[in-house]
Amino acid sequence: MREEFTKSKLDRCISCGYCLPACPTYQLTGAEESSPRGRITLMRAVQDGRLPKENLLAESSFCLGCRACEPVCPAGVEYGVLLEEMREMTWQGRHRPLIVRALFLAVQSQWRIRILGLSSPVARSRRADPNLNLLLGCFERRLFPKVSRTVAKIAPEVSVTPAQGCCGALHAHNGELKKGQAMARVLGEKLPGVILTTAGGCAAHISATIGKERVQEFSQWWVMKEADLSPIVRQGKKIRVGFQDSCHLRNGLGVFKQPRQILEQISEYVEIPNASGCCGAAGSYSLLQRSNSRKVVAQKVEDIKDLNLDYLATVNPGCTRQLATSLKRAGLKTKVVHISELVSLAKG
Ligand code: SF4
Ligand code: SF4
Repeated sequence: MREEFTKSKLDRCISCGYCLPACPTYQLTGAEESSPRGRITLMRAVQDGRLPKENLLAESSFCLGCRACEPVCPAGVEYGVLLEEMREMTWQGRHRPLIVRALFLAVQSQWRIRILGLSSPVARSRRADPNLNLLLGCFERRLFPKVSRTVAKIAPEVSVTPAQGCCGALHAHNGELKKGQAMARVLGEKLPGVILTTAGGCAAHISATIGKERVQEFSQWWVMKEADLSPIVRQGKKIRVGFQDSCHLRNGLGVFKQPRQILEQISEYVEIPNASGCCGAAGSYSLLQRSNSRKVVAQKVEDIKDLNLDYLATVNPGCTRQLATSLKRAGLKTKVVHISELVSLAKG
């Protein structure tokens, strides 16, 4: 018998089905095979040699990897790890999407990552606390360079080292689990002490590889600082702010109270419907499964459109990009920003 999945993790599922209502792809199709339980059944069939592994391809791609199935599971199934193993098994050779190959190439070395950020200046190199180092991210430094500059401005104790590699989350989530883990270990050696990150997806991956004590997501860290913030007021009224959870930060690390705590302090906070539900960005998903990604985000846009929000705060660059694009397409004025940018405004 082949053992391609970690047996103890696969054996945990008791097929109770509690995860079905939490799963966005099951909500889209109503089909058992597009649910966490259905996918685990497929994995077991491949593990036992009853099905060829090619039968996993469609569902390994359709699954968002949002891990919403984990917190609701009474048996503690680590579905995220099983999905990483499923993609490691299936997204190889000609089955690896071209877009994924291009993304891997873009972050292959430190100099390529620095090139990504050449036209978008990130936080400047500086030595502050040697045991508190800012992760600049790969695509975040290209798409949202202001985020690292903002964190550097509001947190002078943070050290910044521009020569840093990718944390490997991209690889781990796209069929190169072992390489992704090796990259996280290299990064852990490069950045000593606590790694401070503004990306929920990176936080979850690095924590899972080098230990939770080595990683802090921005809002988690900021709340521990217990810094005073003033409400942000415009035309005599507090600004109205909603929040979109990062799936991996919430479902993987259990961090969801801290960003709300910050936003309640500085704004008229509005909990958006299903804030914990995936926005459809899901790493490379919005590029690989464009139409399904749009279906997932459509309900979110619908839920937000009448809330009259000034800002929608996020804690992950993929969510920022997905929501900013989708809200703009729908003609909404709500601005999508990383939570640190609102903290910066609250500090004046
Ligand atoms: S993954 Fe968890 S919740 Fe879903 S069927 Fe298996 S045991 Fe039940
Ligand atoms: S990771 Fe998300 S999309 Fe995939 S099975 Fe779990 S809940 Fe469904």
